[in-house]
Amino acid sequence: MSLLQIDGITKKFGPITAVDRISLEIKDGEFFAILGPSGCGKTTLLRVIAGFEAPDEGHVRLAGADITDLKANRRPVNLMFQSYALFPHMTTFGNVAYGLEMEGLRGADLKARVTEALAMVRMSDYAARKPSQLSGGQRQRVALARALVKRPKVLLLDEPLGALDRKLREQMQIELKRLQQDTGIAFVVVTHDQEEALTLADRIALLDRGKIVQLATPRELYDKPVNRFAADFIGLMNFIDGAVARSGFEAPGVGRLPAPNGVADGPAALAIRPERVRLTENADGAAIQGQVEGAAFLGQDVIAHVLVPNLPRPMVARLAAGHPLSAKLARGQQVWLNWQADQAVILKD
Ligand code: ATP
Repeated sequence: MSLLQIDGITKKFGPITAVDRISLEIKDGEFFAILGPSGCGKTTLLRVIAGFEAPDEGHVRLAGADITDLKANRRPVNLMFQSYALFPHMTTFGNVAYGLEMEGLRGADLKARVTEALAMVRMSDYAARKPSQLSGGQRQRVALARALVKRPKVLLLDEPLGALDRKLREQMQIELKRLQQDTGIAFVVVTHDQEEALTLADRIALLDRGKIVQLATPRELYDKPVNRFAADFIGLMNFIDGAVARSGFEAPGVGRLPAPNGVADGPAALAIRPERVRLTENADGAAIQGQVEGAAFLGQDVIAHVLVPNLPRPMVARLAAGHPLSAKLARGQQVWLNWQADQAVILKD
């Protein structure tokens, strides 16, 4: 069932259309990510949902009720602020209790709710500490507890892990996912980090210049990007310019390449992920011949750059470190590249 309905939302700032007729639905208990480059309108859309920004057009509905004109503090929706918004003079307990106290909760009920929220984010042992006595990750957990303690129907998170270093970020991603599953609250997270969106979300709305480019599951977005922007934004991708003709893909100066059927004739780009490119030492009917420009060992994988005559950029292939070819790839070596037709995507724009 759809919990939150965003219906034709437009928000302008003077001449800038930050959000341009966006419609989407978020389901009960869903982990939803709003993803896109800087300035694409992510934060503005989140602020409209939270009630901090009034849209110029469109409606926000929660469980069927129109909340477009409802004040932020009257919405059963909570926006988690960055951890630096914690009150520095209050303890962890005080920070988490604050919102409930404002609602008039006191005594044993208050204590029970705060204790429960602190346990949820594994911060029970730090209840008496001030924010300055906590690590960045711990402060982030307190900020989360403060948002969760009010038991919102929807929790909005704007770049929740942005201030954390990479290792802590990965750890907190797992924590966030666990929290979302444990509480069953719908989480809507704004991020510019595609890896974070792929890891966390059940579905992702990819935005560009105020519009939704693609709304899909992480797997669909990765495997079936709808255009070059989506293919380029998510993960690594090889692009080969050419044209679809007589139900095949032709790249000028390269030849006919394996590609899926069913795309109308005309100019197009073929997109293929590095891990789906097969590298071999022998032709074996492969599509392209090239020369190794360099290879980088990344632990689990080896990334090879292969120069192909008449292609402006090297093709990138990703091999498992256990692959027999991976240890002996040398600069200047002749190799062959191939892929399964159904693993490539033809992009018309
Ligand atoms: P980032 O990832 O950099 O935070 P974003 O995708 O969240 O970017 P928004 O903050 O929503 O983008 O901004 C979208 C556009 O609207 C940008 O061009 C921004 O400059 C503009 N904008 C946002 N808020 C305001 C405002 N209060 N006044 C004027 N312009 C604004």
